[in-house]
Amino acid sequence: MIIDGKKLAENVRQSLKKIIDEEKIVPVLAVISVGKDKASQIYVRNKEKAAAEIGVKCDVYSFSDDVSQQELENLVLKLNCDKAVNGIIIQQPLPKALDGDALLDLISPQKDVDGFGVFNAGRLLLNEKGGLVAATPKGILRMLESTGETLAGKHAVIIGRSKIVGRPLAALLLNQHCTVTVAHSKTQHLPELCQCADILIAACGQPKIVKKNWVKKGALVLDVGINRDENGKICGDVDFDDVVDVAKFVSPVPGGVGPMTVAMLLENTVQTCLVQTKEN
Ligand code: NAD
Repeated sequence: MIIDGKKLAENVRQSLKKIIDEEKIVPVLAVISVGKDKASQIYVRNKEKAAAEIGVKCDVYSFSDDVSQQELENLVLKLNCDKAVNGIIIQQPLPKALDGDALLDLISPQKDVDGFGVFNAGRLLLNEKGGLVAATPKGILRMLESTGETLAGKHAVIIGRSKIVGRPLAALLLNQHCTVTVAHSKTQHLPELCQCADILIAACGQPKIVKKNWVKKGALVLDVGINRDENGKICGDVDFDDVVDVAKFVSPVPGGVGPMTVAMLLENTVQTCLVQTKEN
């Protein structure tokens, strides 16, 4: 069966719109974008469009590659103090000359709707409630839950250990009582390891690397990758056509994790807006 991330994301957005209308709030998301990376520009536009559809205001702050660290830090500090702003994100990747981690850690934890700052990441790692969880892992968990399968006790193998996907996802699934293995570029015997997975999540940015013989029969397979195949077509890290008959559930690319990531970012922004509105 296919996990339809597009449909799930649509449902999330509709629920969020209902909350926004009923509570008469206008959540504001500040997006800091640096440079001319084509994929980043598309992601920012997608976020803006999805936000506008449900009544979230997206303020995009665009800078050229040569912007200074100081200028960006000043902007983050200003946005932290701005009561009208509920969420702040810094579109990745940033130019190498900038210290992205320092900028992320400067975002107020209450406005860190990407959940990438050390405070929210730490809360997730320690399984403390009330933090903001990174959008892609949060969306993946919702997709897994949508299958109705029990997660506790299952062996989850995650391919990829990045700060934005693999690591927070490992913490999130561990908090759901999965047994978690994180594989990465130095992992040996990757196909054999993946064959042991009840839940297999591919987040390594390698087009169609996961084949049928990597997948245990009846496994849940989620594909995070966004790549171009040899014909320039968007594809995931999983060879969907090869795997679809072996897996019990599989998510497609496009139309899987991508739309859920955007929906979860909006959910985090609405959540922070509700909290901050009550506090003011
Ligand atoms: P990254 O480059 O930061 O990390 C990739 C990880 O994969 C690393 O930990 C690396 O060790 C591992 N890896 C690379 N090659 C490998 C191999 N051959 N075998 C095993 N492990 C390998 O990437 P990222 O930012 O985590 O993104 C991963 C993929 O997910 C990319 O295709 C990216 O575009 C996509 N992505 C999608 C979404 C979404 O919303 N759908 C969100 C974030 C990232």
